[in-house]
Amino acid sequence: MHDVIIAGGGPVGLFLAGELALSGCRVLVLERDEEPSAPLKALPLGLRGLNAGSAEAFYRRGLLPAMTKASGVDEKRVGADPEAVQAPAPREVSHFAGMILDAADIDVAALPDRLPGPAMEGFLTSLEAVCSVLTERVAVLGVEIVRGAPVTAVVQDGRTVTATAGGREFRAHWLVGCDGGRSTVRTLAGFDFVGTEPLFTGYVAQVALAEPERLSLGFNLTPNGMYLRTPLEGYLGMMDFDGGTFDRSKPLTREHLQSVLRRITGTDVTLTDVRLASSFTDRAMQATTYRQGRVLLAGDAAHIHSPLGGQGLNLGMGDAMNLGWKLAATVHGHAPDGLLDTYTSERHPVGASVLDWSRAQVATMKPGPNAPALRQLVLDLMSTPTGTTHVHRRTSGLFHRYDLGSEHPLVGRTAPDFRFEDGTRLGDLMHEGRSVLLDFSGTDGLRTAAEGWRGRLRYASGPVRDGLGLEAVLIRPDGVVAWACEHASDGDTFEEAAARWLGSPQR
Ligand SMILES: Cc1cc2nc3c(=O)[nH]c(=O)nc-3n(C[C@H](O)[C@H](O)[C@H](O)COP(=O)(O)OP(=O)(O)OC[C@H]3O[C@@H](n4cnc5c(N)ncnc54)[C@H](O)[C@@H]3O)c2cc1C
Repeated sequence: MHDVIIAGGGPVGLFLAGELALSGCRVLVLERDEEPSAPLKALPLGLRGLNAGSAEAFYRRGLLPAMTKASGVDEKRVGADPEAVQAPAPREVSHFAGMILDAADIDVAALPDRLPGPAMEGFLTSLEAVCSVLTERVAVLGVEIVRGAPVTAVVQDGRTVTATAGGREFRAHWLVGCDGGRSTVRTLAGFDFVGTEPLFTGYVAQVALAEPERLSLGFNLTPNGMYLRTPLEGYLGMMDFDGGTFDRSKPLTREHLQSVLRRITGTDVTLTDVRLASSFTDRAMQATTYRQGRVLLAGDAAHIHSPLGGQGLNLGMGDAMNLGWKLAATVHGHAPDGLLDTYTSERHPVGASVLDWSRAQVATMKPGPNAPALRQLVLDLMSTPTGTTHVHRRTSGLFHRYDLGSEHPLVGRTAPDFRFEDGTRLGDLMHEGRSVLLDFSGTDGLRTAAEGWRGRLRYASGPVRDGLGLEAVLIRPDGVVAWACEHASDGDTFEEAAARWLGSPQR
């Protein structure tokens, strides 16, 4: 029997499988599709934007070089100068509702503290690149993947969960549904999925146009919707505000796409070829809880929304990073009371905020007589330093803060990449997926206290290049600061924080 079954070997399921296996869990992935590759995962339609938060998660597991290489990105473009003492200003900021913002307008002083590190920026990748790197990783970590095995039944009792897939039964202590937006696990396990119905049908397609120069590059808002044309191998995106009524079970024909394109652009532009196409909507729904007994949800299985602003994959990576260590501690029997339920209490609000971000963009793009006035107003506000900084805060994946009950501004946030004078960085210490205690004071008290959690905690001490005024920091395996201390001799509060997140000491 396995410790955890993951239904769905997409990016989120694979990343979660790696997190669990890293912590010593026996993991089985049941994947519906026979083949790992599919045309929709490859460029151009498989194009995905990873934000700095996802880049940081990959960095902390030693995966950033493989990920940037597979994505064809220069690692230096993502990282910072290794000798830099200050975090560089962000070079990119996402768009809002198709309105491109200028990173030069970000007010860096208004952002929480950051330190320079190898994961300062997001980058463009493809689903194919992400999944191939993660598939290699989980193979090395001993995860078993069964392909061609769609989960069709889930039954749980007080101790185990049984999943039926491909006519066979598989048992484990836990099951996580990472089976995408139309999650079967979500339905079978009885999760409530609530939210708002769509206003539009969206399309992405790889096409050939008779006269491509008739369509402008970039996001184009028109009186009837939006189209996006990029120089990338005939990539075309469209938003048709039809109330989301297009029957998506029907094949996408060239005729249909052409008629939508003509209506949106107000031209008689001709599609000479459609090589590949797919549709989506802005239906924005979220599971009311991410756990029902021994069944959990992560990624699109837990939340769906329009791809505007490219947030879904990043959100799912954050779920997996948050859930992996908590579920592993529960499997190994050393999780403190209630730890697993903090997965929902921490991640649900982040998901709700992304859904609202996507809804706000749809409302801003919706055509109508008053639409241009609203868009202009939003653009004016967004283009101010405060507005651009706000967009960066909401989309970079670096600045959300979990409420961990501490007033300290760093607690609940992703940790800055502290660097010891010998060059060792926090990110280097996190590859094993354990918590890390950074002790910049070198006092014996903390070293001795940390002994109580050996095996679950990596202790590192020494002079730090910039400790941001701190003497010690406890960082959870997901990179979130659990405890930050300006006077490390005060070891009692460390022990309280360690017991809260790592369970009872092993003494
Ligand atoms: C056009 C478009 C552009 C996007 N751009 C971005 C972007 O730039 N940035 C971003 O962050 N996000 C983006 N997204 C969203 C992103 O692609 C998804 O959020 C992400 O793929 C979700 O990953 P997942 O692993 O949760 O689900 P999926 O990628 O859907 O993977 C689910 C897996 O489960 C398998 N499966 C399904 N049913 C079963 C079953 N019953 N049993 C077993 N296996 C099953 C599937 O075969 C699949 O492998 C975009 C989405 C679209 C549509």
